[in-house]
Amino acid sequence: MNNQNLFEMVKQHLCSCSADLALSPSVEAVLKLPVRELHVSIPVRMDNGTIQAFQGFRVQYNDALGPAKGGIRFHPDETIDTIRGLASLMTWKCALHNLPLGGAKGGVICNPKEMSVAELERLSRAYIQAIYHIIGPDRDIPAPDLYTDARTMAWMMDEYSRIAQKTTFGVITGKPVSLGGSEGRETATAMGGWFVIREAARDNSLDLRGARVAIQGFGNVGAPAALIGQEQFGCRIVAVSDSSGGIFAEDGLAVRALVSHKKKSGRVHDFPGARNITNNDLLELECDILIPAALENVITMANAGKVAAKMVAEFANGPVGTGADEILHGNGIPVIPDFLCNGGGVIVSYFEMVQNANFDHWDEKEVFRRLEKKMIEAYRSVRVLSSQNQVPMRQAAYSIAVSRVVQAMHMRGWI
Ligand code: GLU
Repeated sequence: MNNQNLFEMVKQHLCSCSADLALSPSVEAVLKLPVRELHVSIPVRMDNGTIQAFQGFRVQYNDALGPAKGGIRFHPDETIDTIRGLASLMTWKCALHNLPLGGAKGGVICNPKEMSVAELERLSRAYIQAIYHIIGPDRDIPAPDLYTDARTMAWMMDEYSRIAQKTTFGVITGKPVSLGGSEGRETATAMGGWFVIREAARDNSLDLRGARVAIQGFGNVGAPAALIGQEQFGCRIVAVSDSSGGIFAEDGLAVRALVSHKKKSGRVHDFPGARNITNNDLLELECDILIPAALENVITMANAGKVAAKMVAEFANGPVGTGADEILHGNGIPVIPDFLCNGGGVIVSYFEMVQNANFDHWDEKEVFRRLEKKMIEAYRSVRVLSSQNQVPMRQAAYSIAVSRVVQAMHMRGWI
């Protein structure tokens, strides 16, 4: 999944703002370590009667601003350092978006594509049993991430509730709407990303009507990103891809029909009227906006020089690797950093927590109205600092987020 260590990458980014904030070496050292991590081995009975032990993790990176928050990933190439890097990113994401939450991430090394629904359910429940004692509505609140979804969250909430002997909606977010979930949560990351793109497009005098957009990924984030971009922002989605390859159509893809095609065939390849391309071709396409919405570290020093988009919006976590950032910056391509751009997911997760705590339910219009306000506020603060200090948006975003966490640690008397 990542031949570059995501944790090392995030730590490097962290360093980029420590001079701006005049952080002491000891504070910087504290920020570079997770406060808590749990490694678990999870035995699960498989459908054929055998027992398989899966390895899982939960990393609570920093909880100075509030209970830790972050998703759970199911992926065969999961590593503890990827989880640490992503938990660190969640810390900066929640801080940047002014949420009263810290950062966490969890993962299980498994291949969900090769497991039955019953096996996935047993694994999800067993994982919650293993991490039960460190999570909870006031401690650490998981959510969906790579290859986990609302159904996974429902099993996990149910398992936690069984052990706690009371329904505990607030322990997890991204639940089905019928079970304490929030309206708009499934499309929140994509929606939030588009609110930010709209602001950035204005600032860069780019007209979104008919703008050519290429999206890497057609899953939880990529597919709604394509639909919203086309239907609500008037863009032309010229290319998309998934793990088996991509497709291109100069006049724009019919995204709704593509969603059905992917559902039927399991991939975007061979979509009528489009040309098959590779994932690498997609990243190097000449277009207005490139949206990496799949895995980390896909734009590297090897291909960054070939990126021909006018703007990159990171809907995935960590898609632009170390070194690649500088190349894009040098070529005058603005990058909207991940923890600014994809904060919509955790913002609506936070709205879900607020609704759960108040036994309330907001309609989608209300959710998106609040989401839009928060995304614009965060974007504006980053944009202002980035032009004031003449630094890339990522560095400005780190400065804002890190200073909030440092202040909270200071007030608590930790440093
Ligand atoms: N997994 C999402 C992220 O990386 C959402 C996390 C959450 O809602 O807690 O931002």
